[in-house]
Amino acid sequence: MIFRQLFDSVSSTYSYILASRKGGEALIIDPVLEKVDRYIQLLNELDLRLVKAIDTHLHADHVTGLGALRDRTLCVTVMGEQTKADVVSMRVGDGETVDIEGLQLGVIYTPGHTDDSYSYYMDDRVFTGDTLLIRGTGRTDFQNGDARQQYDSIFDRLLKLPDDTLVYPAHDYKGETVSTIAEERAFNPRLQVNTVDEYVELMSNLHLPNPKMMDTAVPANARVGLAQDEIAKRGWAVQASELNSLLNRRDVAIVDLREDRERVKHGEIPGSLHVPYASIADSLKPGGVLRELGATKSLLFYCAFGERSAMAVQLAQEAGLKSGRHLHGGISAWRKVVDSAL
Ligand code: FE
Repeated sequence: MIFRQLFDSVSSTYSYILASRKGGEALIIDPVLEKVDRYIQLLNELDLRLVKAIDTHLHADHVTGLGALRDRTLCVTVMGEQTKADVVSMRVGDGETVDIEGLQLGVIYTPGHTDDSYSYYMDDRVFTGDTLLIRGTGRTDFQNGDARQQYDSIFDRLLKLPDDTLVYPAHDYKGETVSTIAEERAFNPRLQVNTVDEYVELMSNLHLPNPKMMDTAVPANARVGLAQDEIAKRGWAVQASELNSLLNRRDVAIVDLREDRERVKHGEIPGSLHVPYASIADSLKPGGVLRELGATKSLLFYCAFGERSAMAVQLAQEAGLKSGRHLHGGISAWRKVVDSAL
């Protein structure tokens, strides 16, 4: 496995790059906007292709690199289903997985620091975001934080992982880089409590100043900007209200870009073909399935929220498929139209 821990000294944020092999797919966890050039350079040096970028939660202390990485690498942006961030193209819930070639992260919902805080784990390590820090825990006094929930997230979920699981947090302010579950259970001063009430009491008496960047970072991270707005301006979007008239048309191929897991969970648009977003570049090459199909039919791409399909339609247009369109707002927008008509 290829694993890199990267540090932003301004916000004391750790970001992580993971991949299973040289020349393969990679993902990044908690990227910082100002460091995006560095990540791209490192990915090139390591011969890796970024396919997913994850934020563990909506950050209050730095601006996320998710939007910039999406624009520069066309990667899929991932956050938990509770998040209010608009940059997200794939939302995951507790018990699901985030997959890339040769590597799978388990998803654990660990609210408390924020209501959209998630941890991601694999065999020997867990990325805890700001839920569990090294000898500390994330504050719970803003962004719908809740000390009681955080206690449950830590004691009932994270501390139940095997003792030797490596703990990689989103921040450290003292230069610590890694810990283990056993070490934190034994030595984390915040966890030396006997009851949830003791923990809540401890967390309510921290009297921390607000993060310096909070007033700018929170709104910036909630509204990074959608790739879809630009696509709609170019006339490459179909609105959800117009979709029904395009169903069952012989001259239109509806292409579902989501992963199997999302199709099972949220259903699909009738008559659609499945071409996962990860294979889009290959299938648009000469001889590829979409390139062939697009020669005789108009391609209509869709995904969960319209973000991946906005990137796909751009690639299709670049490949010369000028009748390509995408479903603005994704299947989520279409479902709302269908439900409101019932
Ligand atoms: Fe945070």
